[in-house]
Amino acid sequence: MSLGIVDSATCAFNCGDNENVAHLFFACPYSSYVWKKVLGFCNIFRSLLPWLDEIQWMVDHSRGKTLSQNLRKLAFGVTTYHIWMERNRRCFRNTYLPPEEIISRIQGEVAAKLSIIARDRSYGEREHSLCINWGINTC
Ligand SMILES: [Zn+2]
Repeated sequence: MSLGIVDSATCAFNCGDNENVAHLFFACPYSSYVWKKVLGFCNIFRSLLPWLDEIQWMVDHSRGKTLSQNLRKLAFGVTTYHIWMERNRRCFRNTYLPPEEIISRIQGEVAAKLSIIARDRSYGEREHSLCINWGINTC
């Protein structure tokens, strides 16, 4: 807004709040709905945290190369990308996608990348449930 690119600070998802990074990720009802669903696919069931705490939680719980750690990194990156793209779609193209479509796109992208990582490895029951959540049938 200070650069004159957009003329309103109102959230692009029409929730009535003003937009800032912390609101967009994931205080807004739209993005919190998407992120909660994605966390569920990762078998993570907890309250959402403020943006900086969410980043720190991901850093703390995504170190390493296990399937679930790789999945968390992928899911976090792909989700923030798609929410940002949806925000821009609404701001600059005046078109929008429902949250279920965004979730579907996130799921497709994460599954495609994760299936490459997971290929030709054997996993235990916990990892297998992640593969089922994301629709990956190679692990
Ligand atoms: Zn909002």
